[in-house]
Amino acid sequence: MSKPVFTIPCPVCQMTNINHDLLLSYQGVERYFCSSQCLERFRSYPHLYVGDPQHGLSPKQKNQVELKQRRIRFNEVIGDDVKKVLEESLLALMGIRVLTFDQQDLFVTYDLLEVSLESIEKAIEDSATRLRGTVLENIKRGLIHYSEECELENLAHLTKDGGYRL
Ligand SMILES: [Zn+2]
Repeated sequence: MSKPVFTIPCPVCQMTNINHDLLLSYQGVERYFCSSQCLERFRSYPHLYVGDPQHGLSPKQKNQVELKQRRIRFNEVIGDDVKKVLEESLLALMGIRVLTFDQQDLFVTYDLLEVSLESIEKAIEDSATRLRGTVLENIKRGLIHYSEECELENLAHLTKDGGYRL
C-alpha cells in the first residue's frame, strides 16, 4: 500500500508541500501545515483562514491579500554579507513578497495574512545573531506591533455585512 497523498494545501499560505508532522485540529477538522510559522498563524487567528456558516468565507478563502510594507532601518549601510544573510532568512518565511535594500534601510513587503511583523523581526534578529552581536544592537525599528494586531482582529471578526464581532 502506498501512503495516501494529501493534496489539501496549507490553509495559511496555500503551498502544497505540507509537513505531515504539523497537524492541528480545529472545529473537528484536522489540518496540515507547511511550516510551524503557518501553524502558529492559524492558531492565533483561525477566522482569517476558515469561514463558518454564520459569517461566510474567511478573508483567506476570499483570496484577500493584505500587503504591507515596513522600513527597518539599520545604524550603518547594510553590507553585502549582511544583505545575503538577511535575504536568506527572510525569504525562508512564508508571505514575504519583496525585499529591497537601500543604504541603511531594508524595505519588506509582506502579506499580513501569511506572516506577522513579529516573525519578520525574529528572522532578522536570528540572522543578526548569526552575523555578529553588534548588528542586533544597531537595528532601529520604528515598528508598531499593536496596530498590526488590531488590524488582524478586525479582519478576523468583521464580515461583509460589517461590524459583527464574535
Ligand atoms: Zn503555509
